[in-house]
Amino acid sequence: MNTDQQRLNQRLAATQPSATYRIIDRVAERRAAGARVISLCAGEPDFDTPPHVRQAGIQAIEHGHTRYTQVAGSRTLREAVAAKFRRENGLEVEWQDTLVCNGGKQVIYNALAATLDEGDEVLVPAPYWVSYPEMVQLCGGTSRIIRCEAGSGFKLTPAALQAAITPQTRWLILNSPSNPSGAVYRREELQALAEVLLKHPQVLILADDIYEHLIFDGQAFHTLAQVEPRLAPRTLTMNGVSKAYAMTGWRIGFATGPRWLLAAMEKLQGQQTSGACAISQQAAVAALNGPKDFILHSREVFQRRRDWMVARLNAIPGLKCAVPAGAFYVFVCCAGLLGRTSPGGRLLNSDEDLAHALLEEADVAVVHGSAFGLGPYLRIAYALDDPALQRACDAIERFCTAL
Ligand code: PLP
Repeated sequence: MNTDQQRLNQRLAATQPSATYRIIDRVAERRAAGARVISLCAGEPDFDTPPHVRQAGIQAIEHGHTRYTQVAGSRTLREAVAAKFRRENGLEVEWQDTLVCNGGKQVIYNALAATLDEGDEVLVPAPYWVSYPEMVQLCGGTSRIIRCEAGSGFKLTPAALQAAITPQTRWLILNSPSNPSGAVYRREELQALAEVLLKHPQVLILADDIYEHLIFDGQAFHTLAQVEPRLAPRTLTMNGVSKAYAMTGWRIGFATGPRWLLAAMEKLQGQQTSGACAISQQAAVAALNGPKDFILHSREVFQRRRDWMVARLNAIPGLKCAVPAGAFYVFVCCAGLLGRTSPGGRLLNSDEDLAHALLEEADVAVVHGSAFGLGPYLRIAYALDDPALQRACDAIERFCTAL
């Protein structure tokens, strides 16, 4: 074999494939071998895209919206995005202040790729979405992980933020509601972080608001640029239709932020994807401009499932979780089970060992917290119907009580 032929870009070679995808692959292997695995790994709602949005996609094809759009997104979608930011987030946004990408993930990647150079640091509060540190590394930057323990509700505190900022800090990533913890920042918590950020004008802020609408108990959603308008000129507020409208496969994400940054991201996108799928853009217009009953319904369903899951998991000896305020994940502490041996003879020294044993022996797939930078936890997604959740919890309980 000619090893030079297969030499990869060094940054890519150093990048880890997503832990979630590795587990999903293992689930597929076990299912192919005949196992009835219940996967609690999903990062997407289990609902179908609302009918009027699906219809808009079909109409887009029928009416010939099948060509390239402008790189930054069609004018119609950018106007709908600007209207969404004004209406739902109180941000002063015109259509020129927006950018549409292939999913929220590409918004984040474009922003980092457009701004990071060797030596630049990105502050990533842990537990974090698995992709942040990998994207930072792919873009040549360095992640500075800030551990946010259960005691602070898995949220970044002003003191921890202040202590982590250095002259090399280029970005802070804030994700609320959070994947994986479900934590939601309240207005006063964002205000306190803003006070610190105001003292460090070199820091850009990425507000990942992708779970904005999955927020429970009547709590209001707040985003940093709205809470502290003085930070708006250096905040990229990212969102998308994936989670709010059950449109993960349509791949539409969007952002608003300073025009210099959006222009740089657009330049990159122009040499990369030429913009998002024209058909999906039309469907996203229907989602953003259309009725909101789908959002209200899915929020209600997820809140009911969350309450059920938290009660059920807390009743299992060795597991312990707080009530998450948003998203569709429970972040469960499993410290009480470590050091034990599974019925199949596996020594459980870490949350990863536990997640592995649960999959191999109980046919339940979850993701270990250390994959999100904070162990020992399990991230359990409840984006499944009630009977499946019930069966999964029964299996987890049987497994844990047999340890
Ligand atoms: N941000 C977070 C925290 C996520 O969990 C996800 C998806 O799982 C995304 C961003 C990206 O979403 P999408 O690319 O589907 O819009």
